[in-house]
Amino acid sequence: MTAAPDDAALPWLAGPAHDIATKQRGHALLVQGNPGAGVFELALRVARTWLCETDGADAPCGRCTACHLLASNSHPDFRALLPELTQVELGWSVGGAEAADAGDGEGKAKKKPSKEIRIEAVRDAISWTQKSSSRGRAKVLLLFPADAMNLVASNALLKTLEEPPQGVRLLLVAEDAERLLPTLRSRCQRLLFAGPTPAQALAWLEGQGVVNAPVLLAAAGGHPLAARRLAADGFDAAAWIALPKRIADGKWEPPAGATVPRLREVLQKLCHDAMAVAAGAAPRYFPATSLPPPAAWPKLADWSQSLARLARHDEHPFNAPLITDSLLAEAKAVWTKPRGRAA
Ligand SMILES: [Zn+2]
Repeated sequence: MTAAPDDAALPWLAGPAHDIATKQRGHALLVQGNPGAGVFELALRVARTWLCETDGADAPCGRCTACHLLASNSHPDFRALLPELTQVELGWSVGGAEAADAGDGEGKAKKKPSKEIRIEAVRDAISWTQKSSSRGRAKVLLLFPADAMNLVASNALLKTLEEPPQGVRLLLVAEDAERLLPTLRSRCQRLLFAGPTPAQALAWLEGQGVVNAPVLLAAAGGHPLAARRLAADGFDAAAWIALPKRIADGKWEPPAGATVPRLREVLQKLCHDAMAVAAGAAPRYFPATSLPPPAAWPKLADWSQSLARLARHDEHPFNAPLITDSLLAEAKAVWTKPRGRAA
């Protein structure tokens, strides 16, 4: 069984987690923040603080029985609902909740991990909240990302959110709270997690032994956990720096196995930075010196809209090589001067 992620190792979580755990009295909290900045680990730390059995603890003590049970993911009064895909990404295994899927795998081809928090898991968790607490402190149900619940699952949770059983606290975690049903949002107390400062993020990343940490951190939008994942996936800093000009020149080839959503993300980062520079601001994802010369604003605006449209559909199956070619041609065209006209 996989141990829970070590939230104590993310030093920027202690302050916000302490504030939430000790000052927020609501039974249903909606914590909004970026997963790459540690918003899930933050919520986990809040849950651990609530369930810690050391008297007067305003942070998880790490020594009591409850803390040990939480660290091994086996506390009977804690449950996390995560889509299968998120569990895989986090290297996290959830006791109990995903058991609903256990029966249908036999003899069939392996299914792709689900991106949804399933209705069965939500119903199961709701009936779990109705039983009394095993260790007599509280019960905590964490949902991450909460927008992975579809309409049916969200609706099933409404009543529990409105009137949770005695001692039950719900932690909904989402990157973008606007993607939740308004009826869910309105029943929660909303909190915003800003993440680490750039200096904290960089110091932590360097402490993890990540080389080219500033380039990785920028490529990951300033989110240190996302940057560490890039490093683990073999991120090539030199190739990243060379990428903008190669794309503008039409000379870039996506790495083997690159998916359309992944390519679209990279192009959106480049588009973002090209627009920032065109507007006189600093780029976010690429070093300023790595960017091609400023492009015409109307072309950038069209490109940005086109990528945003694709983002709404890129889970759909389509002809990936065809889309890849057209995406790269579109990107190159942004920097191609019209023929026969003065620039
Ligand atoms: Zn403890």
